[in-house]
Amino acid sequence: MEIKFYSLEEVADLFGVNYQLIYKLVKTGELPSVRIGKMFRVSEAQLKEYMDRQSVGTPASGEQSYICSRCGKKYFSALSISGKCKECGAQLCKACIENDKAEYCEIHQKND
Ligand SMILES: [Zn+2]
Ligand SMILES: [Zn+2]
Repeated sequence: MEIKFYSLEEVADLFGVNYQLIYKLVKTGELPSVRIGKMFRVSEAQLKEYMDRQSVGTPASGEQSYICSRCGKKYFSALSISGKCKECGAQLCKACIENDKAEYCEIHQKND
């Protein structure tokens, strides 16, 4: 049986987030991956596992999900998203805002 692998770009596309965020998740080990040569690849099973872990609670019918543009966590309630990036308006989750005092998304946050 052939195992399907996704590139980080493809994973970013699937989640509707930017590449840097997926890269960060892979680097921190949050998103399991395999290294093939210099490239990171995420197998279908690893992707599923990650998505299962992120799916807190049961998705409501209609299944709208909200992905924090900073930490990449996926939420099924708009209540978990409590702010926006000051630069681009991308959604930020409650945890990032309350715990990290985040005001910007992954791309726009200032590294200091
Ligand atoms: Zn967040
Ligand atoms: Zn932004």
